[in-house]
Amino acid sequence: MEEYEQNALSSTRHVIGVMSGKGGVGKSSVTALTAVALARMGYKVGVMDADITGPSIPKMFGVHGKLDSAETGLFPAQTERLGIRIVSLNLLLDREDRPVVWRGPLLAGAVKQFWTDVSWGDLDFMIIDLPPGTGDIPLSVMQSIPVEGLITVSSPQDVAALVVRKAVNMAEMMDKPIIGLIENMSYIKCPGCGETMYPFGKPAGAGFAAEMGIPFIGEMPIDPALSEAADRGEIEMYESPIMQGIAEAVVRHVQASAQEE
Ligand code: ADP
Repeated sequence: MEEYEQNALSSTRHVIGVMSGKGGVGKSSVTALTAVALARMGYKVGVMDADITGPSIPKMFGVHGKLDSAETGLFPAQTERLGIRIVSLNLLLDREDRPVVWRGPLLAGAVKQFWTDVSWGDLDFMIIDLPPGTGDIPLSVMQSIPVEGLITVSSPQDVAALVVRKAVNMAEMMDKPIIGLIENMSYIKCPGCGETMYPFGKPAGAGFAAEMGIPFIGEMPIDPALSEAADRGEIEMYESPIMQGIAEAVVRHVQASAQEE
């Protein structure tokens, strides 16, 4: 498969993908937090929501309405606080609550449009929220957009269920380096007694990453403040120690690959 042509009015220095073995583990949340952390460091950041059938990025950032267009193409929406540029199928549909009932080729076509027909402008980082799993769309995105590295998100549950292993193996087969693994929902601290609980099983991410020979970025606890911020469209206000760690891992990765060239 050939690489898609980038829009003439886009200049994207680094494209980073975020993947997971299955849905619901926090891939979109990690995509958003990575974008926020990089934007706080002063980088120009865009988020491409390629999780086409379950687009959740616009809601987390509180952006609505339809994308502006001109003859040269579409323009991304911009978040209020950090000016993060966002493109999602939800911002192209007339109604946000309609399910997307398109078949594979049409979905892959939408992602191509996000790259070719959107004038992203000048970006340091584009973070792509990939669909979960190892299906058609993550595959065609990795083949057709110059993704420089991948962040993998898992929960203690799905590491055991082998789906993360499959996703990591797919990245390796595609020759896409993995920046690191984030284990989400590793534990929850009881706000009353301070006790640590493990609703999805004991953390397993660090051991898994070591076994697979990929870097481990860290554990993210279940934090009601995160889902509340996402539901209110205020993910840009969220603070957590892991965000800095993710952003630093991304920056280190692109600096290292620049030196290799
Ligand atoms: P995915 O993209 O993998 O499907 P999302 O990022 O959309 O997952 O997360 C699924 C749901 O879980 C969302 O409602 C999100 O707000 C919530 N969530 C994700 N991670 C956490 C966390 N660490 N703490 C609390 N809620 C979380």
